Amino acid sequence: MKKTIYLDNAATTKPAPEVVEAMLPYLTENYGNPSSVYGLAGASKEAITQARETIAGVLGADTKEIYFTGSGTEADNWALIGAYEAYKDKGNHIITTKIEHHAVLHTCEYLEKKRKAKITYLDVDENGIVDLEQLQKAITPETILISVMYANNEIGTIQPIREIGMIAREHGILFHTDAVQAFGQLPIDVNADNIDMLSSSAHKINGPKGIGFLYIRKGVKIRSFIHGGAQERKRRAGTENVAGIVGYGCAAKRAADTMQERGEREKGLRDHLIRRIMKEIPYVRLNGDPVRRLPNNVNVSLQFIEGESLLIMMDMEGICVSSGSACTSGSLDPSHVLLAIGLPHEIAHGSLRFSLGEDTTREELDYVVDKLKGIVEHLRAMSPLYEDFIKKGKKA
Ligand SMILES: *Cc1c(COP(=O)(O)O)cnc(C)c1O
Repeated sequence: MKKTIYLDNAATTKPAPEVVEAMLPYLTENYGNPSSVYGLAGASKEAITQARETIAGVLGADTKEIYFTGSGTEADNWALIGAYEAYKDKGNHIITTKIEHHAVLHTCEYLEKKRKAKITYLDVDENGIVDLEQLQKAITPETILISVMYANNEIGTIQPIREIGMIAREHGILFHTDAVQAFGQLPIDVNADNIDMLSSSAHKINGPKGIGFLYIRKGVKIRSFIHGGAQERKRRAGTENVAGIVGYGCAAKRAADTMQERGEREKGLRDHLIRRIMKEIPYVRLNGDPVRRLPNNVNVSLQFIEGESLLIMMDMEGICVSSGSACTSGSLDPSHVLLAIGLPHEIAHGSLRFSLGEDTTREELDYVVDKLKGIVEHLRAMSPLYEDFIKKGKKA
């Protein structure tokens, strides 16, 4: 069987063996409900406390400010809907960006359509960075919340989070950030960065799926939307996903401990991949900011090619990557992020995202570029657009 080369770590990551090992006792002998009072439950309760301490430590937060959720998506929904509900007497205006993850964008659309919210979707520049002046101008007396993602999941662009937090703080507006791609990858300090709420998810940092958290700064009001027992300081009911939380704690500790070294290594590999693609394949564009970029993200548009065909042919070579189309919805709409940075539809369609992981090697990347070159050549040879372009080019 062909070896799999996994370059889709922005979609999900492989759980680390230590993470699985740490979780196992809580799927077997330590099965007590953390809300029970007898000794058996104590192990579960203690394990949750420890994971919460670890995660709070990574963010510079207090343990009482970490609330576990069922996913990053839930954390985003809760932050936006919960804060809107709690502060809507003060105002109904939320500011976000055009390049947020759907967990934020679709929640904003819901608030707009069903809850009378007014939403401003900020533009980004050609590298995907928010314009702070436009942000300042968008603020009204009705603005209650600014939500800007820490780093983008498609093009890897890192936002000026500290500055955005400062602007929010100066105006007495809450600041939420979707940090699902940043937590464990970049150093985050919720106090220095002026963050009031932060969403994260374990499966993006070699932890298990189905567990996330929302950091909520002490004093921030938020309406709960899962009602029931008194778990998570009465703010998010439901018996805790004990094994998931333990796995998350382990993954967060690993990520924090290796962040610096892993980041440097991935950056080196990332830039090697970018260099080779840009040098060896014609008519290619690098998407996202060349510098303010996640250490593991490469996103390129290959002209005259359909991303989906590229994806399928890469898959036949055992290479897992992702394209710039929202094919999950069954439609072939190009990515809203690529359109927001100004790419025309046909170029956005021919985009590929490579997201490296902690196990990625230089040999794998070299193999991928070698294969990619052949596939691109093959697909362009069949493309009427390319044929047209070449003919015109020759005439000119
Ligand atoms: C993956 C992701 C999410 C969703 O997290 P889940 O835990 O998969 O629901 C939200 N935002 C960003 C930026 C992501 O990359």
